[in-house]
Amino acid sequence: PTGREFESNPTVCPFCGVGCQIEYAERGGATGVEGAVNARGEICPKGAAAFDVVDHEDRLTEPLVRHGGRFVTAPWAEALDRVVDGIGGVVDRHGPDAVQFFASSNCTNEENYVLQKLARVLGTNNVDNCARLCHSSTVAAMSERFGAGAMTNTLDDLRETDCLFVNGANPAEQHPVAFRSYLLPAIRDGATLVHVDPRANDTTEAADVHLPLRPGTDIEVANAIAAVLVEEGLVDEAFLAERTTGFDRLRDRLAAVDVAANAEAAGVDPEAIREAARAYGEADRAAIVTGMGTSQHRCGTDNVHALLNLALLTGNVGRPGTGVNPLRGQNNVQGASDVGGLPSVLPGYEPVTDAAARERVADEWGVEPPSEPGLTEVEATHRFGDEVRAAVVFGENPAVTEPNATAVASAFEDLDFCVVIDLFETATATHADVVLPGSAWAEKAGTVTNTDRRVMRMRPNADLPGNARRDLDILTDLSRRLTDRPEAFDYDGPEAVFDELTRVASIYEGMSYEGIGDGSQRWPFSASDGTGTDVLHAETFATGERTAPLAVVDPVPPADELDAGELTLTTGRVLQHFNSGALSRRSDRLMAMRGEDTLQINPTDAVERGIDDGDRVTVSNERGSVEATAAVTPAVREGVAFCTFHYADPLANALTGDALDPEAKIPEFKHSGVAVEPT
Ligand code: SF4
Repeated sequence: PTGREFESNPTVCPFCGVGCQIEYAERGGATGVEGAVNARGEICPKGAAAFDVVDHEDRLTEPLVRHGGRFVTAPWAEALDRVVDGIGGVVDRHGPDAVQFFASSNCTNEENYVLQKLARVLGTNNVDNCARLCHSSTVAAMSERFGAGAMTNTLDDLRETDCLFVNGANPAEQHPVAFRSYLLPAIRDGATLVHVDPRANDTTEAADVHLPLRPGTDIEVANAIAAVLVEEGLVDEAFLAERTTGFDRLRDRLAAVDVAANAEAAGVDPEAIREAARAYGEADRAAIVTGMGTSQHRCGTDNVHALLNLALLTGNVGRPGTGVNPLRGQNNVQGASDVGGLPSVLPGYEPVTDAAARERVADEWGVEPPSEPGLTEVEATHRFGDEVRAAVVFGENPAVTEPNATAVASAFEDLDFCVVIDLFETATATHADVVLPGSAWAEKAGTVTNTDRRVMRMRPNADLPGNARRDLDILTDLSRRLTDRPEAFDYDGPEAVFDELTRVASIYEGMSYEGIGDGSQRWPFSASDGTGTDVLHAETFATGERTAPLAVVDPVPPADELDAGELTLTTGRVLQHFNSGALSRRSDRLMAMRGEDTLQINPTDAVERGIDDGDRVTVSNERGSVEATAAVTPAVREGVAFCTFHYADPLANALTGDALDPEAKIPEFKHSGVAVEPT
């Protein structure tokens, strides 16, 4: 970096949810700090490149205000006046529910807490974060059955497992330090690895059993495994009697499951299903690890319900080395949700419909939040220009990350007003009226909550470029000016916000900056003895009940019916890049490792279409058309094509469908019908 002050100060990597602690190192790199998660100071290529974006030449250093269709730089006072006029005007004309707030899974707990408080003090629950797009279905299913949507266990105790059942996740590439430090040691100690994924990837390399299912057949596979568990006596009768309800009904339904037929529907070997069932059912301690291959379907909630059945049938809940463990994709997607960046719950997951919970919040804020759940992220963009007239987008890039992205980008043009707070002029920012230059991860203090519920501190490693401002200062300034309760947003820094959060969200009660120190505190936290809870649901479920229900789950077909000759496009991530790519594509070292996206296609499908490896291909459907370079590989199964959503070109989400899971409202990123032909 040039011209800026950098210093080494332990903080948290801004990328995946593992939450490795890192700090600035000489010559612009990052080094791992021995911390709560990366005990040996290990980091992955993304972590090592984390500082590349901080001092990037594209950083916004002045507010941008749209004048006559063009952005011009403006003083902060003018830009904030425009925001207050724009948002305030929409609230005056249409009411607070005409504004949608996009919280950020990549920003701190304190910032997200203030953003959701702003929305609710203004009078709307229309606040959501991109947990909606990744694990909202996981959270919906786990909350319903277990009473909590987070990892039931910890990364540490996954080391103790005898079987890892990884469904729709690729931790070797997406959570590399967790894979190397926790999962691989368990495998080296003899744990079996079952990998359920349509694509062979780095995780598959370590697998004993690979089930390369057709996208959209997770329920068929899980039900077949459940049927084998019952048929072969691999269920835990004592656990079923003491800790579950509904076994008789589920057993009757599973008796009708034809394992061979389900295997055929999923396109996998029935013997491999039996092998997977035995590996999971015979293990003393078996842990399910799940990711977006499971969750991003219009039946994502049911997919997770089907997995929860496996854990309950075999008594793999409430003990070390077991459980159901969603791996989170962003460094604070867990925290953004914990602190209330969701439309149906207040901080600490108290339902907005619960009058007592609203009163507890009102005691702290001096104003009661609204009682009706707000709009989820994708529901809101579907209503832009209609009942939603303004958006506050904080550190997210929905014009790239939402499905049917071309339509989303055009919907932003239908808004009366949009303000984006970000580091760069992102694809979403190009549709804004005002863009406010915020702070990068390395320029801020606060806390984030990682994938296994550990709250850790972020500390500044750099000053701010130009006239960029700290996100928390921007949000509190806007809140003081937009609401009639300015005193509710008078904070003496992030620690004061965190202290308020610990009073409002019971799962954080008793935590403190001092207590977290250089380590972490895990929720749910006990204020009385100052410790966190490692393994959830040990004696009772988080519902307060001793038992959890088993569920009958029937397959649901994908929304996109494939036309003749179409392939199923499934999207995902790779080791070197991160989400919309706004950060990772600005790192020269990451771009040197993977500079362009490819469309992975099976050799049989390629031959049928006259496509050679390296050819340019056109990928299209009724939603859009993109070009990409073909990578012909048997890693993807026949009938399936794979690309990432990290690039603006090809913009994968121009092709993905916006059918939503009816409960969690998560889109079906993992199954889109596409035609693929040589360009
Ligand atoms: Fe960052 Fe995740 Fe890599 Fe750790 S594993 S360095 S948190 S991207």
